[in-house]
Amino acid sequence: MQKELTKIIVLLSSSKVGEKITVNGWVRTKRESKNVAFIALNDGSTIKNIQIVADKEIISEDILVKINTGAAISVKGELVESKGTEQSVEVIAETIIVLGEANPDEYPLQPKRHSLEFLREKAHLRFRTNTFGAITRIRHAMIFAVHKFFNDKGFYNIHTPIITGSDAEGAGEMFHISVFNPENMPLNEDGSVNYAEDFFGKETNLTVSGQLEGELAALAMSNVYTFGPTFRAENSNTSRHLAEFWMIEPEMAFYDINDNMDLAEEMLKYLVKYALDNCADDLQFLEKRLIDEEKSKPQNQRSEMALIEKLNFVLENDFVRTTYTEAIKILKNSKPNKKKKFNFIIEEWGADLQSEHERYLVEKHFKKPVILTDYPKDIKAFYMKQNDDGKTVRAMDILFPGIGEIIGGSQREERYDYLLKRMREMNIPEKEMWWYLETRKFGTVVHSGYGLGFERMMLFVTGMGNIRDVIPFPRTPKNAEF
Ligand code: ATP
Ligand code: MN
Repeated sequence: MQKELTKIIVLLSSSKVGEKITVNGWVRTKRESKNVAFIALNDGSTIKNIQIVADKEIISEDILVKINTGAAISVKGELVESKGTEQSVEVIAETIIVLGEANPDEYPLQPKRHSLEFLREKAHLRFRTNTFGAITRIRHAMIFAVHKFFNDKGFYNIHTPIITGSDAEGAGEMFHISVFNPENMPLNEDGSVNYAEDFFGKETNLTVSGQLEGELAALAMSNVYTFGPTFRAENSNTSRHLAEFWMIEPEMAFYDINDNMDLAEEMLKYLVKYALDNCADDLQFLEKRLIDEEKSKPQNQRSEMALIEKLNFVLENDFVRTTYTEAIKILKNSKPNKKKKFNFIIEEWGADLQSEHERYLVEKHFKKPVILTDYPKDIKAFYMKQNDDGKTVRAMDILFPGIGEIIGGSQREERYDYLLKRMREMNIPEKEMWWYLETRKFGTVVHSGYGLGFERMMLFVTGMGNIRDVIPFPRTPKNAEF
């Protein structure tokens, strides 16, 4: 069966005009006149549908009544140049088999625009919409491009563990893994849970990052990257946070923070260019969708650039590189800070930046993507390289329009003494992290890395506004239905 099928994307390339073909797919719409029915069919290979022309003298009425939106059909016929203006080719059906019916009284998707909220409740069917078809294809292209980018540069992809025994980074934000029956946990004498009896003989969690293990690999393989699922139990119900998301984490020996920034900027531009070069139809569709959506918004909330223009803008401009300290000065003097329009008013150096501040810097002040470096050490992780000022670390966050932080990275602290001291100051259990510390004892070198939240990148490339719509099955607080 499979061998005879032609994907719609191939049919539309017109290379098979005049041939007998078989195409399978799901019906999007059916229009009927007295003598013919026109069926728009989609098989996921492209945003475009193929038009099936069903002459009522050839295709019987008892078949046609079953051809409703959502039904799966198999069509045999001839591919011909279309007489219509909407499409270049169409299929003149000779036989149609209804593979799977979809009762129009029950099928929830109509051939009209549904709200994204509605479609989240129908996540099992939302792949069948133009919007989610486009997002699914772009997501695939971006996954492929990530691997291609790093492979072409000689990076090795490594799989880091999903179950981790170290709680170094995300204290309090992790999902615990246990085989204990919650109603009957083995307890120590003092009443605490005795994890020594648990599956791994210790407390374990779902990972929040593959970085620490990535560093181990980089300190032998030179350049590695991970691309895996990460988990955060933070209860932040925002349009940019998921409880389960995918992260790309390269880790490079012999890279300082400037090399790190160069790589990150090059990678982001590569991914954007890959989307522009390979996903043009889908991007055009999403751009049009966005423009329609924005028509219902007040003028001052509409974006200044259309999607494709925005992507090109990022490609063509150098990212601004400046320090956290500079950013604080800008923010303190900014209108929304003085007029108390920010939810979090920036009072002094040392404050953590919220997404509203990050977006102000990118969208209003610099009007370009921004890389901020040299953050206060107290708001960053223990493993970041300490600067000589004793106050800041060699962190680099990349901030994007519409999103805020898309990448968080740093040069890593490679000096054993400095690392140990910082771990003690921050109460990082050095005993548990003995293996991490040992890399600083044996052949330690300058090294750097970063984490790109894959769904944040997807938000940017697709122009979608909610992270729940760029991953097929979002995991968020109180939501794990599908
Ligand atoms: P934020 O301040 O936006 O919560 P973070 O400081 O917690 O981000 P990192 O721990 O540095 O982020 O993680 C690296 C990258 O992973 C971020 O730059 C972002 O792209 C992405 N990321 C972080 N948390 C989430 C989340 N809950 N859902 C989706 N992506 C995330
Ligand atoms: Mn976070």
